Amino acid sequence: MNATTKDLYIACPNPDCEGKVEVPAETEVGEILVCDECGIDVEVMTVNNDDVSLEVFEDEEEDWEE
Ligand SMILES: [Zn+2]
Repeated sequence: MNATTKDLYIACPNPDCEGKVEVPAETEVGEILVCDECGIDVEVMTVNNDDVSLEVFEDEEEDWEE
């Protein structure tokens, strides 16, 4: 399984944000991270030899009722 091997700082996918998202070591595809700069949730789309791509995580606004 692909996972990062070291801490990385990847440019925030939010076009209004110039910050970087901290991607801790052992982050895997599908994990949700938070940008310290703008507070947005970002999803890890791919991990490839410590080259990580991120996308803004779309909140689907589903109501989970119990
Ligand atoms: Zn940001």
